[in-house]
Amino acid sequence: MTELLKSITSMANIRHPIVDVHTHVYLPRYAAELRARTSAPRILNWTNGVKTEERLLILDGEPSGGRPIGPQYWDRDEKLEFMQRHGINISFVSSANPWLDFLPADRAQTLAHELNDNLEEYCATSPPAEGFSGLKTLYGFGLLPLVPNVEVSTIIQTIEHLKSLPHIRGIIMGTKGIGKGLDDNALDPVWDAIQAARLVVFIHPHYGVDSTAFGENDNGHVLPLALGFPFETTIAITRLILSGVLDRFPDLRLLLAHSGGALPQLSSRLASCIQHDPIVANRLKHDARYYLGQLYFDAVAYGSEELTFVSRTISRASAFKNGGGNIDAPAGSARLLFGTDHPFFPPLEASQKWPSVENNLAAIRSMAGVDSKPEHQANILGLNALRLFDLHDQVYT
Ligand code: URA
Ligand code: ZN
Repeated sequence: MTELLKSITSMANIRHPIVDVHTHVYLPRYAAELRARTSAPRILNWTNGVKTEERLLILDGEPSGGRPIGPQYWDRDEKLEFMQRHGINISFVSSANPWLDFLPADRAQTLAHELNDNLEEYCATSPPAEGFSGLKTLYGFGLLPLVPNVEVSTIIQTIEHLKSLPHIRGIIMGTKGIGKGLDDNALDPVWDAIQAARLVVFIHPHYGVDSTAFGENDNGHVLPLALGFPFETTIAITRLILSGVLDRFPDLRLLLAHSGGALPQLSSRLASCIQHDPIVANRLKHDARYYLGQLYFDAVAYGSEELTFVSRTISRASAFKNGGGNIDAPAGSARLLFGTDHPFFPPLEASQKWPSVENNLAAIRSMAGVDSKPEHQANILGLNALRLFDLHDQVYT
């Protein structure tokens, strides 16, 4: 039998899950916190004289008066119904932005603890993932009190707490760190503790870029979401690379939102700028392109060509290892993971299935080199996630 035939035959006999690694919740406790506020981020009652609805304002000067918000953001049954409708077997749910960023340190610390406990319960009491022995339908990314003036020892305590919550498999964080960004050396003990705890870090944007760059026309949320979000992630991860965090903590598992933004596209330019800069030229252990192979990327890009490109920049990473390439390096598709960004990007018209989700699924299935390889599709759609979150062997042994 040819290798292809063998893989098709074995694929047919084993059921593989669809796993969503990018899906959000505002837990009821968090929504209550936002409702009690009088400035962004907040949830407020909005009316145009005809209808009244709750709206979410997450930034000062939010375009178009914020966005409608409802139970799909906090009701677990709606999450499960959405998963069922799209054939998603397991979701790794994370708090949506802006997390605890806006709170004073003591409140952030208390709320982190309470929300982490709430998310553990949300997941632990979810139904079993049918057909995937011992797994639940829901797992979670917890929160750290990453705000200015917090004691680093308090953050470490929260990591210890997260370690004791069996359904919390990672941490979602924005790009501000404790005020100076993720490349702040003061965070080294935090990276160390996260690496030791084997928690996956999901790096997700919130602030975008300076909104004056977007001009005065009302383009809704298009510019901040399509461009601002991914550029913010691009800058954050580039700063992390430049600070040497990936050299000092090579086993840290970082998952980048929105397929790493523009990092794959700009990675050779980044490498070239580093090579030509006397301040940075000798700072890093490897060429900048090497570090892409150390990262994980969600597949929330909506286009197969873009995903193919990301996968190729990951695949070539080992060739940029200082001192020689590693021929056993995994294919780029081993570091891409399906996601939906639910409950954001709902259809504008009532529809059975969400086009945002259908587009992501179709994009993965038609990636060049993946379209003819069911095992690669199964990896991106779910098996990579089970491996990353140390759940794979529980099912496939
Ligand atoms: N997706 C998110 O995760 N957050 C937003 O604010 C918008 C889209
Ligand atoms: Zn998101």
